[in-house]
Amino acid sequence: MTAGPVLVSGGGIAGLTLACALRRQGIAVDVIERKPEIGDEGGIGLTLVGNALRALDSIGLARPILTIGMPADHIDIATPEGRVVGQAPTKGPWGDGIPGHCSVARPQLHRVLADAARTAGASLRAGLEINEATSDAEGVDVRLSDGSLGRYALMVAAEGLNSATRQRLFPGAGPVYAGQACWRARVSRPADLRTTQIHFGGRYGVVGICPISESDAYLYLVETAEENHREEPGQLHTALREKLDGHYGGRVAALLSELTDPARVNYSPLPVMLVPAPWHRGRTVLIGDAAHANPPVLAQGAAMGVEDAVVLAEELGRGNDVDGALARFTARRFDRVRMVVETSRQLALWEVEQRRDVDVPGTMRGAAMALAEPL
Ligand SMILES: Cc1cc2nc3c(=O)[nH]c(=O)nc-3n(C[C@H](O)[C@H](O)[C@H](O)COP(=O)(O)OP(=O)(O)OC[C@H]3O[C@@H](n4cnc5c(N)ncnc54)[C@H](O)[C@@H]3O)c2cc1C
Repeated sequence: MTAGPVLVSGGGIAGLTLACALRRQGIAVDVIERKPEIGDEGGIGLTLVGNALRALDSIGLARPILTIGMPADHIDIATPEGRVVGQAPTKGPWGDGIPGHCSVARPQLHRVLADAARTAGASLRAGLEINEATSDAEGVDVRLSDGSLGRYALMVAAEGLNSATRQRLFPGAGPVYAGQACWRARVSRPADLRTTQIHFGGRYGVVGICPISESDAYLYLVETAEENHREEPGQLHTALREKLDGHYGGRVAALLSELTDPARVNYSPLPVMLVPAPWHRGRTVLIGDAAHANPPVLAQGAAMGVEDAVVLAEELGRGNDVDGALARFTARRFDRVRMVVETSRQLALWEVEQRRDVDVPGTMRGAAMALAEPL
């Protein structure tokens, strides 16, 4: 007999992946999402690195994602002028037909995950959140914002960085600022660009172009910024253009004329967080950004949420001992996530401090080798 039913609060990448993974274990699952729709219509794109694709493949989701994204086995390294001077391989022991990484449009990724969860028999309801939750030794009683009541063997908070459940159960374990902010702008995919191109050594630590579909790409820039720095929402396009204009050549320069609409540009201060282990209190557990967050230097934020989801479902699928499953989940996840958070934080700090006496490639290689280990 497997554990269940499970309530998942939060219909983001981690919550939807968990719903799919639980259904594969035969566990009943209800997902509730606070926003009026499940999805990420405003989001631009992200890269799923091989370890995330391997985890998704274990629940049958890698192939549908590869068909909507841009899979590749290396990234191009370029000068600020746009001359490609090298390649960094991303290929790893991810499984047959699984590439080194795949970049995708966020709205499409959410659609694939939500469709897969529904098809597998999960219940997905939007415009709902938990008003009250009471945990006992056997489960959790919840009252939802529409007044309905429910009882679950486990409640999973996949509520993202500002999780209300984390704030209630883990007071004081919130995010801190990583000292950097990231600009992203949706642009057309340059016709001959099929993998991410990163420009090092210019005015900013990192400027890149990431193709996410046959038609689209995003241009991004990571910069050091004061913690309280804010950008004018209506002027995001002109601000990003001014930062890049005259400092970058090649494809970046060619894309600047597309920066005409602030709604297609996103500015995000970058957080760091690691909730101390264990991530559960009684029968409530945190996964994804609700439990941990890191600057995207290793592109491992969503990847860690996907892995959390797959491991939690595997452990719950072993029988009806929920407490044992939560203990095994902690044992399999905490040190691996800590390595990602600490390494990402270190790399971000080196960029902020503009350190030249440190081994960035070796540190990144070490993290990649650790992530290649089985889950
Ligand atoms: C600039 C930037 C670039 C990034 N690039 C990458 C990358 O290339 N690769 C990568 O792997 N990661 C990347 N990340 C990280 C990645 O975006 C996150 O780790 C990931 O989106 C987190 O997913 P999640 O499901 O845990 O949380 P979220 O995506 O935040 O989803 C949480 C969901 O829960 C809902 N919710 C919140 N509170 C409640 C509530 N009380 N009740 C019900 N629903 C609720 C929210 O509305 C939301 O839909 C990047 C992050 C940033 C900022």
